[in-house]
Amino acid sequence: MLTDEYVKRVYAQVEQRDGDQKEFLQAVREVFETIEPVFKDHPQYEAAGVLERLVEPERVVKFRVPWVDDEGHVQVNRGYRVQFNSAIGPYKGGLRFHPTVTEAVIKFLGFEQIFKNSLTGLPMGGGKGGSDFNPKGRSDAEVMRFCQSFMTELQRHIGQFTDVPAGDINVGAREIGFLFGQYKRLRNEFSGVLTGKGLEFGGSLTRTEATGYGLCYYTQEALRVLRNDSFEGKTVVVSGSGNVAIFAIEKATALGAKVVTASDSNGYVYDPNGIDLDVLKDIKLNKRGRISEYAERVDGATYFEGCRGVWSVKCDIALPCATQNEIDGTEAQMLVDNGCTVVCEGSNMPSTPDAIEVYQNNNVLYGPAKAANAGGVAVSGLEMSQNSYRLSWTFDEVDARLKGIMEEIVANSLDAAKKYGDEGDLMQGANIAGFIKVADAMVAQGII
Ligand code: GLU
Repeated sequence: MLTDEYVKRVYAQVEQRDGDQKEFLQAVREVFETIEPVFKDHPQYEAAGVLERLVEPERVVKFRVPWVDDEGHVQVNRGYRVQFNSAIGPYKGGLRFHPTVTEAVIKFLGFEQIFKNSLTGLPMGGGKGGSDFNPKGRSDAEVMRFCQSFMTELQRHIGQFTDVPAGDINVGAREIGFLFGQYKRLRNEFSGVLTGKGLEFGGSLTRTEATGYGLCYYTQEALRVLRNDSFEGKTVVVSGSGNVAIFAIEKATALGAKVVTASDSNGYVYDPNGIDLDVLKDIKLNKRGRISEYAERVDGATYFEGCRGVWSVKCDIALPCATQNEIDGTEAQMLVDNGCTVVCEGSNMPSTPDAIEVYQNNNVLYGPAKAANAGGVAVSGLEMSQNSYRLSWTFDEVDARLKGIMEEIVANSLDAAKKYGDEGDLMQGANIAGFIKVADAMVAQGII
């Protein structure tokens, strides 16, 4: 329920203009519902039109991406870059290559990124991009040609001081390598214009692990502060089997939990003995295979068709690490009924508004994505720092900074929740803490 007049008015404008962009509206509404208490003490935000400006991206670039497949046929995909907000730093956010990518999806991700990046404490604005290109089943040569074509247009709009993309779903080391190569070739410039680069050409140690590790550092810290508890001895359900999921499984296991599931878009595996990471990494990272193969290789593991069944598995902690809206109200209720008391989000906006309501009504410790998964972009920020210094820090150094940043995010969120809203509410706290910094910068810089 929106109650504040200013917030209601701006939300009505967004509905009128972008009513068809449902993922974007969902993300805006969630933020608006939680930041309302801030406006009483900060009349300058309304006077400076902060909300009206915040919901309108500074720039949206939409472009044709033509490329030639291995059969010699011309293919055309759509490319996007949404440069949402640069109040606190250059636009920063990943690129997603997936058939579900639309302008509405990139806008919701870019909007979330504004607050997430602010929460890291590093100087990064919010942006996001991608394409409806599906790399699944494509050869390396096809992926390279696609990436080269995508960057041929994107390079006009980005730069180390302007906009620094990185990976997201289906954009990993291989794609970042091809994109970086094409940028360098077209611009004759070797700079930190992308993050998630290979270690040989300016990448940072710990970047690959960062989102999954960060998610577990965040969860561990929230458990410690709010429940005097930890991962030790807990049963954990993880969805997904990409970079975020794999390294969340690795860290949760290292912290003493047993992770019993992993999934892909076709189905999920249940392994009562705890996921065998060597097998999972071999299937997903080395072979780009399907998760069903896991059950063929590991005794005692079972494969189930349909990825959403993962939420019916009994657990103490759920870490969604696949994609947006992967848990609806019914599935959230199923988790709660089976004894789950903690949900921390590795993927962006995995819980529908109904699911969030279920968490709130059942005292679930809920760590929202823009805080819980901020470790990825945080280490991207550290990669940018290392590139500027022209040096590289050790794995342990970056890992320690990552852990420190995630713990700060928990502390800052709880402080903001206590000051403005409901004590202990990590979602409200994250939205308010992320928002205030950006809003203050927008006021200070004038109406631009
Ligand atoms: N795609 C990641 C995210 O959702 C990382 C973005 C980045 O490193 O710039 O935060």
